Amino acid sequence: MTRTVLKFGGTSVASPAALQRVAEIVKNTRGHRIVVVSATAGTTDALIGAARAAEGGDAQTAQDTILRLSDEHRNLIADALGFESADVLKEIADLTERTTALLQSVAILRECTARTLDAIVSYGERISAPIVAAVLNHTGTKAEALSAEGLLITDDAFGHANPIVDETRARASKELDSRLGYGVVPVVTGFIGSTTDGVTTTLGRGGSDYSAAVLAAATKADDLRIYTDVSGVMSADPRVVKGAKPLESMSYAEAAELSYFGAKVIHPRTVLPAVEAGIPVRILNTFAPSDRGTTITSNTDKDGSVVKATTSLGGLGMITVQGAGMSGVPGFAARVFDTAAAERVSVMMISQSSSENSICLVVPDDATDRLKSALERMFNAELQRHDVEKIAVERPVAIVAAVGEGMRGTPGVAARVFTALGKASINVVAIAQGSSELNISLVVMEKDREKAVRLIHEEFHR
Ligand code: ADP
Ligand code: ASP
Ligand code: MG
Repeated sequence: MTRTVLKFGGTSVASPAALQRVAEIVKNTRGHRIVVVSATAGTTDALIGAARAAEGGDAQTAQDTILRLSDEHRNLIADALGFESADVLKEIADLTERTTALLQSVAILRECTARTLDAIVSYGERISAPIVAAVLNHTGTKAEALSAEGLLITDDAFGHANPIVDETRARASKELDSRLGYGVVPVVTGFIGSTTDGVTTTLGRGGSDYSAAVLAAATKADDLRIYTDVSGVMSADPRVVKGAKPLESMSYAEAAELSYFGAKVIHPRTVLPAVEAGIPVRILNTFAPSDRGTTITSNTDKDGSVVKATTSLGGLGMITVQGAGMSGVPGFAARVFDTAAAERVSVMMISQSSSENSICLVVPDDATDRLKSALERMFNAELQRHDVEKIAVERPVAIVAAVGEGMRGTPGVAARVFTALGKASINVVAIAQGSSELNISLVVMEKDREKAVRLIHEEFHR
């Protein structure tokens, strides 16, 4: 029997009408089905807000948020079913009580570790799974909600945990196979997992896609379908570019580049487990399920396009370490990167110019000041001697990336990108081209970000 993993994102589970669509999609899917769900749209953000408020000592705001979320979910399930389900209401009440207690402890301690935050944000997926399972049962599909704790096993990197494949495979087949055999659809919480000791972890923001891919690989699924609120991966973020079009297919490598550079539609790490297991991934629209969507595969069919999609990532700062005394000094770049690593700052993009003797690093904006100070300490002697002239910061900046397999070996792509931006007088602050020739990424000032995306999109998608 074929086995399909269906993942439904935040907007797909946030209203009675959406839940109805979900039920129809699951019913119309043949074979064994495993459903993975996100928290309802906005819930994870709200939980993080509550945790931050509690950490700042504002227990009342945290309490108000959790009660509002609880009420919203009680109303959601009552409206979706047309009656009050005692089981689901009990589940919501228990989880709310537990999360309220966690937030109170945070408010008393005025401290919220990554581990505690994971326990708090897990509330979102843990209440959406029973809601989805109840709607499936009510519409004639036998279903059971399951927490991924004890099922999707990870290391203890709280906030961005890494799945442990072998453990997950063993647990998943134990928990899921028998249920599938009885014709039950497991509805598994996305985004969360647990350590081997059973401590709750999360896979990082947007991580439900990743959960779905890990579970698809662990259960040897034939197919992974990621249902969201747009009809596939588009040639640009549809909120920025009105004329953006869904892409019929793309390679894993293209999808990985796109998601890395900000296309929120799929989680950056999602594609890996599916690639390795050779499972085709489709991005589909819950609200238009017969639209073709985007198929992500390992082979890279040339479809004649050069730049397939243009994307952007904001909220960044750029640090440039510059100085004539740097040229030919071995180990200089290594010291720059070691400093970033010691500060635990993740570097989004690097660009080095040989003529100007400079290295630039693009990092999350909130890490810019910290990294600049650390670099000044590291290069204190060089700064005094003027071997390093300055450590400069530009912010806020954004990375704009043009992605496509067709760029490989096609001359003049970069020139077209720069001409398009130059004509509109957009200043390009730095450039990097991946050695895979799959993307060209540029740094622009944040204010120019959306315009730059539109101009590049227009140049390649006329
Ligand atoms: P879900 O909750 O279903 O996971 P997300 O909000 O995480 O949904 O991702 C879907 C959203 O990603 C879309 O509504 C769209 O606004 C945004 N998005 C950004 N870039 C792209 C792109 N290139 N193609 C499609 N959607 C994109
Ligand atoms: N609920 C989580 C988030 O908002 C995971 C997800 O939706 O994929 O980040
Ligand atoms: Mg998402």
